[in-house]
Amino acid sequence: MDAATKSDLKKKIKREAIKLGMNLIGFANVERWSEFDEINPAYYPQTIWPWSKTVIVLAVQIYLPMIETTPSVVYSELYNTTNRMLDESAYRLANFLNRHGFRAHFFPRDCYGDISVLVKKPEAAFSHVIAGKYAGLGTIGMNHTLLTKEYGPRIRLVSVITDAEITPDPMVKKNLCIQCGLCAKNCPMQAFTPKSGKEIAEMDQFKCAAYHQKLKNEFRYPCGVCTAVCPIGDDRKVYGRCSVSPDGIKHCQSFGSKNAVED
Ligand code: SF4
Ligand code: SF4
Repeated sequence: MDAATKSDLKKKIKREAIKLGMNLIGFANVERWSEFDEINPAYYPQTIWPWSKTVIVLAVQIYLPMIETTPSVVYSELYNTTNRMLDESAYRLANFLNRHGFRAHFFPRDCYGDISVLVKKPEAAFSHVIAGKYAGLGTIGMNHTLLTKEYGPRIRLVSVITDAEITPDPMVKKNLCIQCGLCAKNCPMQAFTPKSGKEIAEMDQFKCAAYHQKLKNEFRYPCGVCTAVCPIGDDRKVYGRCSVSPDGIKHCQSFGSKNAVED
């Protein structure tokens, strides 16, 4: 593909993704996985799908006034909505690329059968966070999430893998995490252990998954506190330090979950 065709295809993909309701779109060439050499090569897209050339990462925002009621059914429903949007949009975008003669498919946004599996093995076969970083959407914060300029960590991600060679987006150079420690301090499970000299905290993923199991049983999954409290993101500038009143949080938590009827 010559440069003009590549650029035309990129524009078409972006247009399509925006039409599908995506807030952020980034492009990574698969070479970035080996270039940065940060994760086990078994997780590289080109190891799993040897023909892959580009990973397109799509993100939708998580609304602050909803996540700030967590743990609640209000946030749980938002989470489910973003999941449906991401998988459907990625499916449609892969289909769009197929129609233009390229190999393409998507890696679903979570890809685990049930939270009980994560309690024993808290990881997936592919990392959208790493893909998002290589696609220029943001940097990885102390809380292990992808921090973006627009929404901080309040995004959900999915990836489309294709053999179309598309010019990658530049990566974000400056770390967006300001190391404020609010994520670690507010985690109900104290799952993070910040380490001096390291920008990303150690995380006890088993503790986090166990808490999610509890919340799922109460119909108010997931947690998300470590993303709700993060001060990074233009969305935070719009809503200020807190977008829901303390009474409003209690009110929203009083409906729709097991916790609401058992308390
Ligand atoms: S999702 Fe909740 S339990 Fe898990 S690390 Fe974040 S704040 Fe802690
Ligand atoms: S809350 Fe603070 S330390 Fe945690 S990810 Fe956000 S900026 Fe970084």
